[in-house]
Amino acid sequence: MREGGMAGSEESRVSTLETNWRSLRKPVSAVSGIGGGFLRGLRAMGIETVEDLLFHFPRRYIDRRKVSRIGEVRIGEEATVLGTVRQVDLNRISRNRSVLNISIYDGSAYLNLVWFNQPYHADRLQPGAEGVFSGKVQYRFGRLQMVNPAYDIVGDAGEVGHRTVHTGRIIPIHPASQKMSAAMLRRLVIRALDQYGDLPDPLPLALRLRRGYPHRALSLREMHFPTSQGRLNRARQRMAYEELLLMQVALALRRRHMALETRGIPHSPPGEMVESFIASLPFRLTAAQARALGEIAADMSRPAPMNRLLQGEVGSGKTVVALAALLIACEGGYQGAMMAPTEVLAEQHYRNICSLLERAPGVRVELLTGNTTAARRREMLEAARNGELDILVGTHALIQDDVEFKRLGLVVVDEQHRFGLRQRMLLKEKGEYPDTLIMTATPIPRTLSLTLYGDLEVSTLDELPAGRSGTRTLVIGPEGREKAYALISGELEAGRQAFVVCPLVEDSNAVEAKAAEKEAGELRKVFPRARVGLLHGQMPKAQKDMAMEAFRAGEADILVSTTVIEVGIDVPNATVIMVENADRFGLSQLHQLRGRVGRGEHPAHAVFVFNGDNEESQRRMRAIAELSDGFRLAEADLEIRGEGSLFGTRQSGMPDLRVARLLRDFRLLEQARDDASSLVADDPRLSKPENSLLRLEVAERFGEILDWLFHA
Ligand code: ADP
Ligand code: MG
Repeated sequence: MREGGMAGSEESRVSTLETNWRSLRKPVSAVSGIGGGFLRGLRAMGIETVEDLLFHFPRRYIDRRKVSRIGEVRIGEEATVLGTVRQVDLNRISRNRSVLNISIYDGSAYLNLVWFNQPYHADRLQPGAEGVFSGKVQYRFGRLQMVNPAYDIVGDAGEVGHRTVHTGRIIPIHPASQKMSAAMLRRLVIRALDQYGDLPDPLPLALRLRRGYPHRALSLREMHFPTSQGRLNRARQRMAYEELLLMQVALALRRRHMALETRGIPHSPPGEMVESFIASLPFRLTAAQARALGEIAADMSRPAPMNRLLQGEVGSGKTVVALAALLIACEGGYQGAMMAPTEVLAEQHYRNICSLLERAPGVRVELLTGNTTAARRREMLEAARNGELDILVGTHALIQDDVEFKRLGLVVVDEQHRFGLRQRMLLKEKGEYPDTLIMTATPIPRTLSLTLYGDLEVSTLDELPAGRSGTRTLVIGPEGREKAYALISGELEAGRQAFVVCPLVEDSNAVEAKAAEKEAGELRKVFPRARVGLLHGQMPKAQKDMAMEAFRAGEADILVSTTVIEVGIDVPNATVIMVENADRFGLSQLHQLRGRVGRGEHPAHAVFVFNGDNEESQRRMRAIAELSDGFRLAEADLEIRGEGSLFGTRQSGMPDLRVARLLRDFRLLEQARDDASSLVADDPRLSKPENSLLRLEVAERFGEILDWLFHA
C-alpha cells in the first residue's frame, strides 16, 4: 500500500508504529483483567475495542488532590482524608443486609465510615490499614462520618502500583451504566492506559509542533487522569483538534476526488417537459422553490457530479422540487431513483408523484419496497434495466444487488439522517457518477453545514407556500391534560382529526406498543363518540396500512401512534397533534411532529406534554413553544445539548465526535479545515511516510466515503 523508495530504517520505524497503532483495534478483552462480567458490561455500553475504552472519556472530574486533616474538614462538603483504620464493626442484620462501621484516625480526629450492605470492605480495611478516603462529610450522633466513601489503600501494591486511583488526585467520572460503575471504569481505564497507552501519534510531527499540541499518548493520559486543569484543557483541545482534522482531511480528499477525478453527467437544461410540468401544477412555485430548482438545474448541467442538500421546513415543498429535478434527468433520456427511509414515506412519495404527474403523461414511475411481490418486482427490475422505467421510488429495497438501471442520472435521497453514507453510496453506484440530491427537514445550522459537510452544496427552502393557516403550539405539564382534551374535543366536533403520539421507548417496540394500546383505551373513554385508530411498529404491515388508510380517508377521528408517523405523513384534515412525554424527544423531532398538522386550510394546534422539571427540560419547552422556525430550533437544540448529536452523526456515516463540540470548538474546526486543505494539497493520496498513521486513521474512520483511495 505504501509507495516504494523509502529508506529501510524509516520503513521499519513506520511499521513498528503501525503495529502499535493496530493494537488499539484489539478486542477490549485484551486488557488484562477484562473478561466475563466486565466484558459484557462494557459491550453493553458499546465498548468493544481497546480504543473504545481509551476513548471513553470522563464526563466530569472531581478534584481530590487536596488531602485535609480530619480535624479541619467542613461538614457538608466533599473532603479527602488520609487515616489509619482503628476499629471495624460489622453488623449483619439479615442475609443481605448489613451495616459496616469503620473508624479511622489521622492524629487530629476520628472519622466514622459507614457502608450499608457492602460487608466486603471489611476484608481490605483491617485495623492498622492506612487509606485515603473521599466523600461528603456529615455529622451524625455526635461524630463525623462519611457514607460509602471512595478509597484507596496506601501502599497497596496490587493492581495499580503505588498510585491512588480513586482519591488523592483529580478523579475522572466516566460515563457509567447500571452494570459498570464509574469506579470500575476508572480501574479498567487505568489498566488499559498502562498496557496500551503508549500510542503512536497520527498527527504528522511537523503539524503537531506548528500547532503546539502535546503528543497523543500524553493527551490521552491527561484526559483520563489530569494532573492539572491547564494540562487537561490542552489535552482536550488536542484530542478535539485531532478528531476534527481527521474529518476534514477525509472531506478534503473527497472534494478533491470529486472535482478532479470524476466525470459525471452533463444534463440538459430544463426543457419542454419540465416547463409544462411546472405550468400544470395546481399552484405556483414559491420563490424559494424556484431558486432551489434553478440551483439544482445549473448543478445538474455541469459535468462534475452534483452533491446537493435540499433543506427546508416540513411542508415547504421539497418533493415538488425533487420531482422537477427527476424530470430534468428523464427529459434527457436518463432515469431517476428516489429512496425514502420508511415504507410509509416511500408510498407517500409514490402517491404524490403519481398525482403530480397526472398532467405529465408518458413518465413511468414504479414503487419498489420490501413488500413488492416477486412477480411485480421482476417486471420492474426488467423495466429499469432496459430503460422503460423512468423513475423508481422505494426504500432500502432499491440498493439490493439485482437492481440495475440502464442510465441512472439522478439519485434523490429523502431524510438523509436516516440513512448511512454507505447506503447513499450504494445507490449511487448503480449509475456512473449520477447526480445526487439529498432532502432533509432536519436543518443544519448554516454556520456548520459547509464546514461539516464540506462536500455538499446547500439549497434552502426558507419559505412556506402561501395559504397555510399555521400551527399554534401549546406546552403543558401533566396537569394541563384537561385543557388539551377540551381542545381536541373542539376540533373533532368541527369535523377535524387528531394525532396522539405516545412516548418513545428506546429499543423496545414491545413496550412502546403496549403504551400505545393503553393510551388508545384511555382516549376511547375520554372521547366515547370518537373512532380511535391505532398504529405501532409491532403491527403486521397490512394492519398498519389499514389504520393509516382509514385515518387518511377520515374513517378514524383520532390516530394513536408511536413515532411511526414522525416523518412525512400528509393528512390535511388533521388539525391537532398531541405528543405525550415530549421530554423524550429531541427538539427537531418535536418540530417534525408539529409539521404533521397545519397542512390544510384550517388553523392547527400542537400540544406537547412535558413531565420533566429539570433545567434542560424547561429550556427545551421554552424553545419549542417560542420558535417555529426549524433552523432556529436546530441551533437552540445544539446550544441546549451542546453536542453533535443533532446530526445523528453516526447514522449519517460520520463517526460520532467524542471530544469536539461543534459550537464550542468552531475555531478549532476552522483551524483543522485549513490544515487539512494544505495537507491534502501537498499529499493527495496520503502516501508520504510522515502521513502514514494519519492515513491509517482516516481509512479506519472514513474509509467508506473514500473507497477509491483505500480499496482501489
Ligand atoms: P416537504 O416534503 O417539504 O415536507 P411536500 O413537498 O410534501 O413538503 O409539500 C407539502 C404539501 O404542499 C404538498 O401537498 C404539496 O403538494 C404542497 N405544495 C408544494 N409546493 C407548493 C406551493 N408552491 N404552493 C402550494 N402548495 C404547495
Ligand atoms: Mg416531504
